[in-house]
Amino acid sequence: MEYSTVCGLEVHTELATKTKIFCSCSTEFGGEPNTHVCEICSGMPGTLPVLNERVLEFAVRTGLATNCEITMYNKFDRKNYFYPDLPKAYQISQLYLPICRNGYIEINDSVNGGTKKVRIHEIHMEEDAGKLIHDEWSDCTLVNYNRCGVPLLEIVSEPDISSADEAVEYVEKLRQILQFCGVSDCKMQEGSLRADVNVSVMEKGAKEFGTRTEMKNINSFKAIHNAVESEARRQIELLEDGERVVQETRRWDDSKGVSYAMRSKEDAQDYKYFPDPDLPPVRLTDEYVENIRLSLPELPDAKKKRYMTDFGLSEYDTSMICSSVAYVRLFERTVEITNNPKDSANWIMGELMKMLNDNHMLPENMAFREDSLGEIINLLNSNKISRDSAKKVFKAVFEENVIPADYVKANNMEMLSDSGALKPIIEEVLASNQKAVDEYKGGKEASFNYLIGQSMRALRGKAPASEVTKILKELLR
Ligand code: ADP
Ligand code: MG
Ligand code: ZN
Repeated sequence: MEYSTVCGLEVHTELATKTKIFCSCSTEFGGEPNTHVCEICSGMPGTLPVLNERVLEFAVRTGLATNCEITMYNKFDRKNYFYPDLPKAYQISQLYLPICRNGYIEINDSVNGGTKKVRIHEIHMEEDAGKLIHDEWSDCTLVNYNRCGVPLLEIVSEPDISSADEAVEYVEKLRQILQFCGVSDCKMQEGSLRADVNVSVMEKGAKEFGTRTEMKNINSFKAIHNAVESEARRQIELLEDGERVVQETRRWDDSKGVSYAMRSKEDAQDYKYFPDPDLPPVRLTDEYVENIRLSLPELPDAKKKRYMTDFGLSEYDTSMICSSVAYVRLFERTVEITNNPKDSANWIMGELMKMLNDNHMLPENMAFREDSLGEIINLLNSNKISRDSAKKVFKAVFEENVIPADYVKANNMEMLSDSGALKPIIEEVLASNQKAVDEYKGGKEASFNYLIGQSMRALRGKAPASEVTKILKELLR
């Protein structure tokens, strides 16, 4: 029997606001446990939430960037459950009237070729919960409320994804859009982008979807890929053995590559949702939404097209650079400084990515002055420094954020490009290599290369080879 995989994702992203969604505590990652906490986000009696306006703006921005309709009258609901990481015993979320609905993102179609739309059912605003730490002690669990009340968007796709590759591409695209729009840093390793992965399988061509399972809080592309693939395989094996798939929440253990049954799937009614009486409904005006639409940045797909047509970059280079907004910023600044898109792209694709890789670093964590790369390329292309030196300067920029021109000076790396300075040194080389000079004059071409080598050595590589060749030719005429 042949099967199709059906997958839908619920992606949670922490927003890059300074303060939490309903109070003014800091959203900063880390910090001493339980220091970013106040009476509101810790659920003390008598306190009231006040919506952070930035959250609203970021939600609308995200909705517009993913082709959603904006719900002009939307509101908050309480999702009730007891869990020690959420001291109010309910989460403020949106069930009935989420802020964005009916959008889509375009991805490559891994089954039929071409592109396809993955529809977005809705995007809603909600608060994050705190963090329970079970691992370090055997006899207790600790709780850290710093994350409690950090604003989240939950982006719910329709089950339009048909393979592990598509699931990864969807999340990659979503991540780029969120980053480009400046609404989230999307650091998956810090949990600011995580996905609940829903998977079912059905016989190829079937009209009805199979029963799905859900794996919560997966926070790497690799894990998303493996989870979809392995869960589809598990379900197919069950069906082939004549058994049934049970609708349930499973835990994905990426280190072992298997999922475990966790609990039977809860339904919306289990949470006894009701409108939150502490928060007034949100009424948006057309003007408010239009202003945000006008302020949207260039989005990844448009940017890629422009890089290819305007700069003549390859599709591969373009998508690598657009894979992170940090690359994009550096690239665009470097092009501004050098007016040379090809070299700018090559340095990012080559030296920079290698350096990041060697240091196990993500592009978001680059910490050098954005102008430095462009300045190095200009020094190189105007023959002020050699390619070798350029790489050394870039390494120092990357590691210590040095200023290229200062570093070149301090380390005596400038090339001797004016021939007045080069000539006497080369003349000396010829004088002490009379044998090679005679051989060259007698017709031995290889001796010329030898003399170039000797000259470059005498100049300690600080002259462009082309210039040295020119002078040598003159002197040997
Ligand atoms: P719930 O409210 O129980 O979480 P939803 O209908 O909101 O259920 O769907 C949650 C997610 O599950 C959505 O991303 C949706 O695309 C996905 N999904 C729904 N049905 C299926 C299915 N049969 N197979 C795979 N994914 C599914
Ligand atoms: Mg759900
Ligand atoms: Zn607070």
